[in-house]
Amino acid sequence: MPEISSSKPYRIGRSKTGLGLFATQKIKKGTKIIRYFGPLLDSKNKKHDDIDNKYLFEINNRWTIDGSTRKNIARYVNHACRPNAESDVNSRKRKVIIRAIKTIQPGEEINYDYGTDYFKIFLKPIGCKCDHCEKKRAKKRAEERAEKRRLKLKAEKKAAKKASKKAEKDARKAGKAKAAPTKANKRNPLGTAKANAHARGTGKPTRTKASRTKPLARVQPKNASKNASKNPAKSATRAKRAS
Ligand SMILES: [Zn+2]
Repeated sequence: MPEISSSKPYRIGRSKTGLGLFATQKIKKGTKIIRYFGPLLDSKNKKHDDIDNKYLFEINNRWTIDGSTRKNIARYVNHACRPNAESDVNSRKRKVIIRAIKTIQPGEEINYDYGTDYFKIFLKPIGCKCDHCEKKRAKKRAEERAEKRRLKLKAEKKAAKKASKKAEKDARKAGKAKAAPTKANKRNPLGTAKANAHARGTGKPTRTKASRTKPLARVQPKNASKNASKNPAKSATRAKRAS
C-alpha cells in the first residue's frame, strides 16, 4: 500500500468492495481532496489506444488519464450513486481533482460518481455496492417480504373461511341427519314441530328423504325409524364434530 503523509485528511482502508479512501479529518464541502493522476493517453496514439484497465479516466474525446499507478491514491476512491465528493475535470489543463460536495466527517468513506458508462459496464452486472444501492435493495427485500406475509395471511384467512363454511355445511347436514330420525322417535329434542307433526301423520309431507320416498304412506314412521336406527351413533358423532 502506498505511503500517505499524515498531513493528508485521508487514509486507505478496508471498504465493502475491497479498499477505499476514508477521511481522517473533517473535510469541508467544496474542499479539494486529492488529484487523480497518471500518464496521459492520447486516443490518436495507437499504442495508447490499446491500453485498457479499470482506472482509465476519460477527460475528453482525445485525452484519458491512466490512473492505474499505485501512486495515484485517488484510484482508491470508490464509486457511489449518492456520493460525498465529485470529480472536477479541467479539460484544458487535463487535470482531474476529487472535491468534497458535502462536509465529510472523520471515518467516513470518500466517494464520487464514476458516471453512467462505468456504472453500466462494471457495476450494473455485479450490482452496485454503494450505500444508496444497498439500502434500496434492502428496502425492496423488506417490501417483498411484507408482500409475501400479506399474501400468506390472505391465503390463511381464505382457508379459515372455507373451513368454517364447510363446518357450517357439515353441521347443517348433521342436523338434518339428526332431524330425520326425530320424526320417528320423539326423544330427539332438536326435531322440529313440523317433522313431529308429520311423524304423527298429521302434517304435510316434509322435505326429508324418508318423506320423499313415500310421502303418503301411513307406514312411514316405521320406515323412518328403521332409517334412524341404521346408524344412530354415526349421525350423533357427526353432529358433535360439527358443533
Ligand atoms: Zn450505487
